[in-house]
Amino acid sequence: MTQPKILRLILGDQLNERHSWFQKKHDNVTYVLMEIRQETDYVKHHVQKVASFFAAMRAFYLRLIEMGHRVIYIYLDDPSNAQNFEYNLKQLIRKEKYTHFEYLLPDEVRLDDELNTITGKLRIPHQVQDTEHFLTRRQDIKEFFTDKKQYLMESFYRFMRKKHNVLMDGNKPVGGKWNFDQSNRRRYDTSVPTPKPITFSNNVADIIKMIDKAKVKTFGDIRPKQLIWPVKRSQAIAALNDFLTSRLPHFGTYQDAMTRQSWSVFHSRLSFVLNTKILHPMEVIQAAVDSWDENREVISIQQIEGFIRQILGWREYMRGMYWALMPEFADMNFFNHTEPLPRYYWDGRTKMTCMETVIGQSLKYAYAHHIQRLMITGNFALLAGVQPDEVDAWYLGIYIDAIQWVEITNTRGMSQYANGGIIATKPYVSSANYINSMSDYCQDCHYDYRARYGQRACPFNSFYWDFLARHRQKLEKNPRVAMMYRTWDRKDDGEKEKILKQAKTYKKILNDL
Ligand code: FAD
Ligand code: SF4
Repeated sequence: MTQPKILRLILGDQLNERHSWFQKKHDNVTYVLMEIRQETDYVKHHVQKVASFFAAMRAFYLRLIEMGHRVIYIYLDDPSNAQNFEYNLKQLIRKEKYTHFEYLLPDEVRLDDELNTITGKLRIPHQVQDTEHFLTRRQDIKEFFTDKKQYLMESFYRFMRKKHNVLMDGNKPVGGKWNFDQSNRRRYDTSVPTPKPITFSNNVADIIKMIDKAKVKTFGDIRPKQLIWPVKRSQAIAALNDFLTSRLPHFGTYQDAMTRQSWSVFHSRLSFVLNTKILHPMEVIQAAVDSWDENREVISIQQIEGFIRQILGWREYMRGMYWALMPEFADMNFFNHTEPLPRYYWDGRTKMTCMETVIGQSLKYAYAHHIQRLMITGNFALLAGVQPDEVDAWYLGIYIDAIQWVEITNTRGMSQYANGGIIATKPYVSSANYINSMSDYCQDCHYDYRARYGQRACPFNSFYWDFLARHRQKLEKNPRVAMMYRTWDRKDDGEKEKILKQAKTYKKILNDL
């Protein structure tokens, strides 16, 4: 019997060399990776994001060759590149006479639908396999929460801790508590110096030249020969080890802290290598737990639990929520917000120091840490009433780690409360008070963080009260917000009027704040 001739597609975020596909060499199997306009153009991306994906795909291609596999790599500027999956696959199948097509489950609905459709048109048998990358299946969260009123991350997280026996002492959590969040809210006080973020010098000059020539629309900065992000496994492991030794000992304590002294504080910056599957989440969890176990005198339970919660809890939870809520989720707009995204999201030029800092570093590095994304740019967009599609497009474009399954759940779900509280139990909004308590941004800002109205009043203050007043009907029954309405009601009418008037004035000059 003649052997089937198999073509296997690898997507740009499926760069997992430990996948069972690659553990055996087969003469009848050819892998294909492709750089296509379809993927560079579905949203306007940060230039470092495009460069990192292409550099990581090219490194993976070389790695597979080194491992002895047959691989085709289609470059963006290859004249025969049809710039989409369907026609490139059809061309290859026709030319090389493949008899079978195989692919790995995509993580986005967009690509899942597309590959489902394409396989019907290829006229050869096909097979789809798991990426073996997550710790749950797509449908697990939906099944886990069947018949439950709320999709609480905490109960899922505890289940995952037990299931994978992570930080467990028999049936009990190590340290006697599941959650050390209360101790993980310290402002950065300079008592521990922030370590310099580990960076790499990947030369991507040819990629930049190629995308410029092809007129791919991007934004943000890049130093051509110095792509700082890890794009191959050896770099990813170096980044992981650097995190374990220099950041994990303080990760939990300063998890929510924001400072102009450091753009990544004690965060791991592993999201790109996790989301492209260069590192497996269990590999990261295991390395962190081992590191804690060997260095308990410097890494407390509070630090390690804070980190494990992000990967074993939040990351898997968001992925499950994505598959539970899509595709309707992508159109939700609970508050019916309609404002366009203010101009400074694209250039960072604003008098608000917090926004200038966070947007500025995002344009420079394609990175901001969680609290910056949630409580500065996300908070401001929600308070200002920005249309969630515009907010999503910005987050999906600007961050190095932005892939829809994890971007939209965090942005539309957690940050913009656009599904009315399925992912977040309350809207993540705050006035300047919170920002001042968790950062050093307010100190030399043009605006006064204490003032609610007047010439230099911080826009977050009047916008905060205006947001609560506008959405009273939708929010006042939420027990987590009710207290704020009581505070508002205690203000005298003159004060309320001045605050709302200030918000109105600022809305008129939203682009010039
Ligand atoms: P660390 O703080 O070091 O955390 C370790 C790891 O935990 C991360 O690498 C990540 O894999 C995981 N993690 C932490 N928080 C979350 C979370 N809320 N959801 C899922 N995984 C989490 N994360 C993305 O990977 N891609 C996105 O596009 C993305 N968009 C976001 C948009 C908004 C509005 C918000 C509020 C958060 C977003 N996040 C996104 C989640 C989080 O901000 C990033 O995962 C984190 O900042 C990445 O940096 P890090 O690797 O240094 O994380
Ligand atoms: Fe941001 Fe207001 Fe503080 Fe300025 S005063 S940094 S605008 S919170």
